[in-house]
Amino acid sequence: MQLENLKNRSLKELAAWLGERGHKPFRARQLYRWMYHRGVESFDAMTDLPKDLRAVLEAEAALPRLIPAHESHSRDGTRKYLFRLPDGETVESVWIPEEGRVTLCISTQVGCAMGCGFCLTAQGGLTRNLEPWEIVEQYLEVRRRTPPETPISNVVMMGMGEPLHNLKGVLPALAHLLDEQGIHLAPRRVTVSTVGLVPQMAELGQAFPKINLAVSLGAATDAAREEIIPMARRWPLDALMAACRAYPLPPRRRIFFEYILIRGLNDSPAQARELVRRLHGVRAKVNLMTMNPIPGAPYQPSEPETVLAFQKVLSDSGIRAFIRKSRGQDILAACGQLRSAQAAGGTLVTPG
Ligand code: SF4
Repeated sequence: MQLENLKNRSLKELAAWLGERGHKPFRARQLYRWMYHRGVESFDAMTDLPKDLRAVLEAEAALPRLIPAHESHSRDGTRKYLFRLPDGETVESVWIPEEGRVTLCISTQVGCAMGCGFCLTAQGGLTRNLEPWEIVEQYLEVRRRTPPETPISNVVMMGMGEPLHNLKGVLPALAHLLDEQGIHLAPRRVTVSTVGLVPQMAELGQAFPKINLAVSLGAATDAAREEIIPMARRWPLDALMAACRAYPLPPRRRIFFEYILIRGLNDSPAQARELVRRLHGVRAKVNLMTMNPIPGAPYQPSEPETVLAFQKVLSDSGIRAFIRKSRGQDILAACGQLRSAQAAGGTLVTPG
């Protein structure tokens, strides 16, 4: 008999499943709290459920877990987890302690179909979408391993994959992360990133209007953007910025624009001025990052003085622009690096 994976069910679906077995809907809320709020891993531990219900769950249902195949600790405090999925594929999550918050970056797909030229994950293409439970379980498993004095405060879907290319997995996962009976993160502490899938941005905004949206812009002109983000041919900047203007942002909130600076491609003062023009009328915060060099790729990170000059053009025009440091470089923390090293049979950095 195939066991039912309860972690792929919404609270409503759990209630229906229990109802079919003669149990009241409030049992679903109890079960859900045990699964997500407390994160227990056995039905036996759910002590306020009646014994007969626990026996049914034990016989018919499962609470699958993801166990890290590797865990690496960086000198800067960053921790990286490589999770092995039931079919043998792997995905990465990164735990990032910062001043006043701890952010967990999780993956939404095995590989990615977007083909971004600055990203190692792009090189192998898309293998498959993650199921909702495989997305949420990254959070639950890292939470189990997190020191109690530094709990995860923020979740970003910026790991492997394009989240909006897997809304079927991402939307139910967001429900578990936000539901007050579940993990119950504040919506402003949850961020979903996209390279600009315009129709799906509207869907996300409609389903979860209070979470943060991050747009990985790539460049401020279509020509430069299309060179590094092939998907951009489908959704050029005019369409993307129109979608950003139409996005249902809560009051006082901004869209985060992630801008990876690549030497000679998108880091000129002219690109910075064009970015200022593009962002006109959008409540925006820009995070500037230099790319991590990728073996064999034709792109190089921008020089530090170029990054500062780019930031100055934005700041002088009244745009909030911050330079983000790359974290965990000694443990291959950038998206796709650890998985790629493992696939190549490379040496993985061990905890230390
Ligand atoms: S940057 Fe993101 S969207 Fe682009 S290929 Fe990498 S994982 Fe996919």
